[in-house]
Amino acid sequence: MSQIKLSARQLAIIEFVKEHEPATGDQIARSLELTRATIRADLSILTMTGILDARPKVGYFYSGLDLNPTIYEDIRQLQVEAIMTTPVFVTKETSIHDAIVTLFLEDTGSLYVVESSVLIGIVSRKDLLKGALADTDKKATPIATIMTRMPNILTVTKNDTALYAAQQLVIHQIDSLPVMDAEKTIGKVSKTRLAQLFVDTFKNE
Ligand code: ADP
Repeated sequence: MSQIKLSARQLAIIEFVKEHEPATGDQIARSLELTRATIRADLSILTMTGILDARPKVGYFYSGLDLNPTIYEDIRQLQVEAIMTTPVFVTKETSIHDAIVTLFLEDTGSLYVVESSVLIGIVSRKDLLKGALADTDKKATPIATIMTRMPNILTVTKNDTALYAAQQLVIHQIDSLPVMDAEKTIGKVSKTRLAQLFVDTFKNE
């Protein structure tokens, strides 16, 4: 992701203007114990990026926009490929019991069921809870009996946007989407990963 990083001095200028707007260049320079000339480049960057407004003969105002201005566009265009994680695969013969153990061991929220490398089902936490309650034949009932099957599985491709994937998760109230490359399942987009992306995006702000 391309990001313009604001320097400590630029951040200090923003803070001062927030408190003292309208603030003149001289006031800002004095508050930082620097000369006007030293902060000239910083002020032009901050006005060009729209973070500060400069009004001639009045001074600088804070625009309310101290988010990195490129973040919005970067996030909007981010593709699934950049955020997909590795799914945990199982076969349809896997017992509900073993699937639950796998869920814990792999620390994942869903299992993708494949047959000869082709995705045929998805098993979620609640599928497994329901299955476990109904599973009288302990350790023997296969997950094929409880999985959501193709063609009812919603998927995305690696070139879909992360935003589109997030919308699908929200609209359909599911936790993850398999990422497909033709017939092949090459990844997974989960709510957890999208939450991580949100945190990463703003960690330097
Ligand atoms: P949980 O059941 O633990 O709340 P989900 O919200 O992901 O987890 O799953 C809800 C239901 O939707 C489950 O029955 C699950 O099998 C199914 N499901 C999960 N992911 C998908 C998907 N990508 N496409 C279609 N159905 C899905």
